[in-house]
Amino acid sequence: MHPEGFEMPQRAIWLQNATVVTMNPDREVIDGDLLIRDGRIAAIGDIDQQMAGDAKRLELSGHVITPGFVQCHIHLCQTLMRNHADDMVLIDWLRGRIWPYEAALTPETLAVSARVGLAELILGGTTALLDMGTVHHTDAIGEAARQSGIRAHIGKCMMDLGDEVPEPLREDTDESVRESLRLYETWDGAAEGRIRYAFAPRFAVSCTEELLRRVGEASADLQCPIHTHSSETEFENEFTREHYGLSNIDFLKQVGITGERSVLAHGVHVDDDDCRVLADTHTTICHCPSSNLKLASGIANIPRYDKFGVPVALGADGAPCNNNLDAFTEMRLAALLQKPFHGPQSMPASRVLELATIDGAKALGIDDEVGSLEVGKSADLVVTNLDDDPGCGPGGEVAARLVYSAQRHNVRHVFASGRQLVDDGELVGVDLRRLMAQAREAHDDTVRRMQQFIAG
Ligand SMILES: [Zn+2]
Repeated sequence: MHPEGFEMPQRAIWLQNATVVTMNPDREVIDGDLLIRDGRIAAIGDIDQQMAGDAKRLELSGHVITPGFVQCHIHLCQTLMRNHADDMVLIDWLRGRIWPYEAALTPETLAVSARVGLAELILGGTTALLDMGTVHHTDAIGEAARQSGIRAHIGKCMMDLGDEVPEPLREDTDESVRESLRLYETWDGAAEGRIRYAFAPRFAVSCTEELLRRVGEASADLQCPIHTHSSETEFENEFTREHYGLSNIDFLKQVGITGERSVLAHGVHVDDDDCRVLADTHTTICHCPSSNLKLASGIANIPRYDKFGVPVALGADGAPCNNNLDAFTEMRLAALLQKPFHGPQSMPASRVLELATIDGAKALGIDDEVGSLEVGKSADLVVTNLDDDPGCGPGGEVAARLVYSAQRHNVRHVFASGRQLVDDGELVGVDLRRLMAQAREAHDDTVRRMQQFIAG
């Protein structure tokens, strides 16, 4: 995968005759061209030969250009466990499958897991993500992300509490903080700024109060994001009420985990008071509709978050609880799920497109660079072919076509930082057959090794 390629200068590219869904502040949709130069969007609309110079041309009539999708809750470390942890509730799923699996990972198998996940994400048009790793070997995820060309916030999973956690995943508080700070120093700003760090305490049930407080302090000192799970099941509220006398959200606020740099995955089991806390602290909820359905966690009330002014983003979560990492699936579900409860207009396609692009970028604090197609921003974008697909045509409103009809196979080209990562539906510079052969080997090895960590 691109051993050196991403630091090489690239030729300008002239994307011609497309429908450009800008997601700019006016949400303009422009029929015309888009010029990429020096990794940035140099022009949108009418572009002539004089402006384009010797740019490589790509004829795109019948195609739609959108910002690259931003997914704010992913576990690249879990990809090898896809289709191995089905039809279970969260806590059994964690104890019986996910923790033993994560305990069995090596730097080599973790790297393969991350590369498979990244290949799937990039082929589906995701160009930025927020990842929660496992407890160890996080450098392998950083390296895979660096080589892939994607934009990623990575973070080592922190967990210093819990008797049922397999021995290799248990860590003490000091060691967890020390390793997180080392990874921050190593990875924050790496790969020309494409890789950033985010502290990733797993959830209140797996972390001591001291660990969470120290994460809150380090985040404030370093201006570094925090990524955790919250209120996915009622069990988390029961746990924090029993131990701290507070709801899960109130507890996270008390220990300094909420805030404008924080992304809390799920937010299914919250009340109006929790929503007020999230809104007052500008904390983002990452909505993961497939995962919430598959683990029977419930349905997050996104219209209520919108009403309270809580920032919301979108994410697929990990492969074992989804079982895809596909932005199109999450967009369609996010739109459909709310309608039986709150009416057909409660989550329109145009709102869902915001969650998957500009609002995800805002959640990660990178909306000055990506999340919308505007002159001067980084060229992180996706080209989908809708007109030639009988499942997406023949016409109609473009947001509806993207959210309700389009699927991953409609993605033809993907650019990140102006570099082409997908060309005519194929990953650039990746031998996918070879990668999947390595993945099968890593999978077999990990399934064998994890047996020793499955309790009783
Ligand atoms: Zn998760």
